[in-house]
Amino acid sequence: MALATNSPNQTSYDVIIIGGAIMGASAAWFLSDNKDFNGRVLVVERDPSYENCSTTHTNSCMRQQFSTALNVQISQFAADFVKNIRSYMGGDERVPELSIRSFGYMYLADTEAFADVLRESQQVQLAQGAATQLMTPAQIAAAYPFYNVEDIVLGSINLVDEGLFDAGAVFDWWRRQSRERGVEYVQNEVVAINRNAAGNRVESVTLKSGDVVACGQVVNASGPRAAATARMAGIDVPVEPRKRYSWIFKADTPLDRDLPLTIDPSGVHVRENGGGTYQCGGHADVDPAVDYDDYVMDFSIWENHVWPILATRIPQFETIKVQSEWAGHYAYNTFDHNAILGPHSELTNFLFLNGFSGHGLQQSPAMGRGIAELVAHGEYRSLDLSPFAYDRIPAKRPIVEKAVI
Ligand SMILES: Cc1cc2nc3c(=O)[nH]c(=O)nc-3n(C[C@H](O)[C@H](O)[C@H](O)COP(=O)(O)OP(=O)(O)OC[C@H]3O[C@@H](n4cnc5c(N)ncnc54)[C@H](O)[C@@H]3O)c2cc1C
Repeated sequence: MALATNSPNQTSYDVIIIGGAIMGASAAWFLSDNKDFNGRVLVVERDPSYENCSTTHTNSCMRQQFSTALNVQISQFAADFVKNIRSYMGGDERVPELSIRSFGYMYLADTEAFADVLRESQQVQLAQGAATQLMTPAQIAAAYPFYNVEDIVLGSINLVDEGLFDAGAVFDWWRRQSRERGVEYVQNEVVAINRNAAGNRVESVTLKSGDVVACGQVVNASGPRAAATARMAGIDVPVEPRKRYSWIFKADTPLDRDLPLTIDPSGVHVRENGGGTYQCGGHADVDPAVDYDDYVMDFSIWENHVWPILATRIPQFETIKVQSEWAGHYAYNTFDHNAILGPHSELTNFLFLNGFSGHGLQQSPAMGRGIAELVAHGEYRSLDLSPFAYDRIPAKRPIVEKAVI
């Protein structure tokens, strides 16, 4: 079904953000909150129902268990932002107080090689002030008797500021408050990005409605469609849509304590969802790029792959009933699974806000703030996010982040 469009109020904006889900909303809000920026901001969103975007298909969790210090710091800012959202939003009493349900992520290693990765990562995390604890199989069995730990050599968990948060509330309030401060959102689609005569700057974007809108800078916040958007500007970015399946199920006999977001060595993951229900995620062994509009569920994956793994790891999950299931897309960075942030090396008023793979919700506060700083000041002022610059791709310098889900 063709989606309706509406036209922007102006013909020119200082910043046009392509994509109005969590990343676009964060960038727009942090721009609206930046005292040194008073430019005009337009957010173009092709589907304001957000029916298929990554943002509305997630686990909604945050963790500090990364292997690179910068990724730990980014999530620490997310925790601080979420726990103090009202104060960040100017004390606005309509903004709800939020908290994090810190049941932790439980990484389980079934090989010494992966256990070593967990040990090394713990050192990185502790140096940043995270509370990660390593657990022997006996300790895991004592604290969480429902796991089968027969094959497990080590576990790693952090019970501080790691777990479930209400990303939907953060997303809603960013949109609401930035609109109130003058950010304009339109339901439309960017279908072309036009360069100036010299070819070295973006001068406008063309919308599906036919409007041509001039811009000072353009931000690519188009999630799994990042490469299609970049191609409109004649540039490449190594991001593709990869399917990730989710299931919510109810256990006949619920667990007697919170289930951490458990990362089985197979990659299947499952977490507490409340009321005797649990949310589980996984993907097929063969994991190609898919069509941008392909959200078809593969029902065989649950039966043949995910459920057997789950019931082996947590035998109490042998009798469960799936309540709902869906396929969503990761904006999968094939280069190094990490954010790609900031200007293109040559087309310098085209800014990337892309490639978040499976951890973009928790990175959205730091990434939106970073983009706003780049736009307003031409540099990062709070957290230095320059390691995520686009230049690392042509230079073939990947960020090695070992904790990718
Ligand atoms: C199953 C699953 C579980 C996840 N779990 C977690 C988790 O627990 N924690 C975590 O931190 N992250 C998680 N993630 C990742 C997280 O959801 C994403 O990284 C994040 O939502 C990315 O947000 P985004 O705004 O970049 O992309 P999206 O949410 O996909 O939004 C992109 C938007 O751009 C719009 N758009 C695209 N092209 C155009 C165009 N040409 N014109 C106008 N609009 C356009 C789209 O309509 C869309 O609304 C998960 C993802 C999935 C799929």
